[in-house]
Amino acid sequence: MNLSSYTLNADLHTHTTASDGALSPSELIALAIENGTQMLAITDHDTVAGYQTVRRMAKQRGLNLISGVEVSTTWNGMGIHVIGLNFDTEHAVIADLLAKQTDARQQRAQTILHKLKKVGLPISLNEVQESASHSHIGRPHIARVMVTKGYVKTMDRAFKKYLGAGKIGDVKSGWVDLSEAVAAIRAGGGVAVVAHPNHYKMTRTKLMRLLDEFIAAGGQGIEVISGKQPQDVTEKFAQIAIEKGLYASLGSDFHRYFPHMATVGRLMSLPEKVTPIWVALSP
Ligand code: AMP
Ligand code: MN
Ligand code: MN
Ligand code: MN
Repeated sequence: MNLSSYTLNADLHTHTTASDGALSPSELIALAIENGTQMLAITDHDTVAGYQTVRRMAKQRGLNLISGVEVSTTWNGMGIHVIGLNFDTEHAVIADLLAKQTDARQQRAQTILHKLKKVGLPISLNEVQESASHSHIGRPHIARVMVTKGYVKTMDRAFKKYLGAGKIGDVKSGWVDLSEAVAAIRAGGGVAVVAHPNHYKMTRTKLMRLLDEFIAAGGQGIEVISGKQPQDVTEKFAQIAIEKGLYASLGSDFHRYFPHMATVGRLMSLPEKVTPIWVALSP
């Protein structure tokens, strides 16, 4: 690997208002350029709508914007996020996958609202849809309505008490299987990456099994850097990437500006010993 490929400033995991991010796609592009990003992927949850609105504009402004998506999947009853990069967003297999996920999101929102109603916190689907405006419905939109209605003080409380892992609103059913998402991304000509591996509370043995099955399904990458993280975490996932023969990806997982969190295009560098994902992302 030559040095220049290591100094590429890439951010391959970001969100916009098309899912649960605060910036519009064009605002995100502007911030990415301002921060010196050379390669960017917009990876909204289960939608490519944001990417599609700015791909031409990004090119005109000299930014290498590649297609992206963050797919919510199920693996062994657990929720695992898979990043798809550099695929044909118009491919029928991708369109099918995302249409299925949109349905799953709608269904899940209704299930969550039903559960909240049962514990005395009624919210209508309409209220959530308004909160989401034209974007894909996610738990953050439900959390925001809960704050507006005075059910909880902050969105963080909404997640801690009702919507987060293990709480009543943590409804995972309906997502595609991990292997199906990976296969669709591959069929669309893209590269599949395991998102934020450090977020999953699983043993090393289980993580290895996940990665083996991910690879068997056609998966090729893992996020070695996800947002701001301690150096030992980077080191751990760099080792795992090498051990499993996976490309190393990196992304801020930017949703909105927070002083203590990673912003677009301002990430640590990948360790030199890994093979960076962009070698697999030829235009
Ligand atoms: P969903 O895509 O509907 O499953 O919602 C998951 C999203 O909720 C994640 O992508 C995060 O952006 C967001 N999220 C997770 N935990 C919290 C939290 N404590 N406060 C606010 N947003 C959160
Ligand atoms: Mn999110
Ligand atoms: Mn995620
Ligand atoms: Mn994300």
